Amino acid sequence: MTTALESYVAGRWVAGDDGVPVADAVTGEHVVTVSSSGLDLVAGLGHAWRAGGPALRGLTFRERAGMLTALATQLREHRPHYYALSHRTGATTADAKVDVDGGIAVLSAYAALGADLPDDTVLTVDAPQRLSRGTGFAGQHLATPRLGVAVQINAYNFPVWGMLEKLAPALLAGVASIVKPATPTAYVTERVVRDIVASGLLPDGALQLVCGSITNLLDHLGPQDSIAFTGSATTAARLRAAPVVVREAVRFTAEADSLNCSILGPDAAPGTAEFDLYVEQLVVEMTVKAGQKCTAIRRAIVPQKHLDAVLDAVSGRLAQVVVGHPASAQVQMGALAGLEQRDDVRSAITALTRGARIVSGDPDKVDPVDADAERGAFLGPVLLHASDPDAAEPHDVEAFGPVSTVMGYRSVAHAGELAARGRGSLAASVVTADDNTARDLVRTLAPWHGRVLVLDTRCAAESTGHGAPLPGLLHGGPGRAGGGAELGGLHAVDHHLQRTAVQGSPAMLAAIQSSPAMLAAIRGTS
Ligand code: NAP
Repeated sequence: MTTALESYVAGRWVAGDDGVPVADAVTGEHVVTVSSSGLDLVAGLGHAWRAGGPALRGLTFRERAGMLTALATQLREHRPHYYALSHRTGATTADAKVDVDGGIAVLSAYAALGADLPDDTVLTVDAPQRLSRGTGFAGQHLATPRLGVAVQINAYNFPVWGMLEKLAPALLAGVASIVKPATPTAYVTERVVRDIVASGLLPDGALQLVCGSITNLLDHLGPQDSIAFTGSATTAARLRAAPVVVREAVRFTAEADSLNCSILGPDAAPGTAEFDLYVEQLVVEMTVKAGQKCTAIRRAIVPQKHLDAVLDAVSGRLAQVVVGHPASAQVQMGALAGLEQRDDVRSAITALTRGARIVSGDPDKVDPVDADAERGAFLGPVLLHASDPDAAEPHDVEAFGPVSTVMGYRSVAHAGELAARGRGSLAASVVTADDNTARDLVRTLAPWHGRVLVLDTRCAAESTGHGAPLPGLLHGGPGRAGGGAELGGLHAVDHHLQRTAVQGSPAMLAAIQSSPAMLAAIRGTS
């Protein structure tokens, strides 16, 4: 593939001018160029407003759920192609499965949720409440699909899951989407969108794709539109404060970087099953997707008395991790998404060493299997130890790669304070067999985290792990994590609906759901 990557705008596949070259993360070979320059993105916006949105709103929630089921079935058939393409982004097949199968699983989960929603285009959120002394006046909340477009801006680490986890709730809600993948891995997203479009399962205008900059389009958003962003805190802050977002009250949600932590309980001494679970989980989180996961464990917070044992055990395991070409059978960890990303991770490790020292791994030296260490974006796992757990760097600096910092805590209360130093994270885990420790820590961690996993031998065999966001559970976190909330079952669908309190007679409220005029208004065809 040496062509300019195409976008799908206003029903046409078109390439922009003067694209940015994207290299294969493993071989350094040219893959595609990416640009949206010269594309009529405003026409795409109009197409979503005037064609995609009305067509989706014309379907009931259950019909849209059926569409998601069919889409999941279609995409499942193409998985081998997606895995092969994902290798070029540095992902092993196991990594690609997290991305591809995980994304398709989100589609299926939202299809299942939608199957339980009414066969209608409007949702009644609650039962009518009496608003007067008599029985003649009541109020009730309705939820109707917003009339605008859902702009979905994604990070480079999960080109498939990142798209589908935002797309599924929007489609179920009846809102058209414009997807903007991150440039380094946009060619994987493009392949999936091409298959979705070719399937003919979605109405025209329900899904568009912009590869390259989307800035020109954002300036034209209106009050019914929304932006869902995943990426760095810096870009999130810029978009949140964009004049159009502020002026038009564009609904905005962000998932940003996050210094997730995992806490080892004081009871989990070396030799216990929980100690082993902790070590295993940390190694997995550092190495899956080469640590390029927004939920990966960046801070390992352990009892001071067990610190050396943790460092030894984790270092020992990391030394055995085979790094190399993601398609090679014996390889456990592939490459980062590109040389630029590797430079960023190395710089972040340098910054971390101002408050911690490297105990395992060398950021400048790796010997990848079946690959060239310099042409490919390889970086071995790097474990650091912060002898002063209260130093600033481990709580401030995100190295978006196979990097984690271990620190000792003095008491459970101190562990909670250290966790809060991340200023808001997507996920935390507590590994303990002591329910009292779990209770204290969960209560302390909750205000600063979107999700908390408590891991012990009772749930370990069935646990989905620290790093896995799940369709039915909230994905998002306060503060540094962006303040957003995605997934969480119907919560994410609600993001695309407008709630309206309707007041009047109970008879009118009963009639409203089947009123042809109301349905026409909702469908935007009145
Ligand atoms: P980034 O530079 O902020 O880019 C993220 C997305 O925003 C990309 O699609 C990018 O497009 C786009 N973008 C950049 N500037 C923009 C602008 N002015 N207007 C509109 N869109 C703009 O982040 P990244 O370096 O690609 O991603 C890595 C970061 O994402 C890490 O810090 C990681 O923690 C975070 N992340 C968070 C989550 C989460 O769920 N919380 C998940 C994954 C990653 P281009 O690529 O074309 O520039």
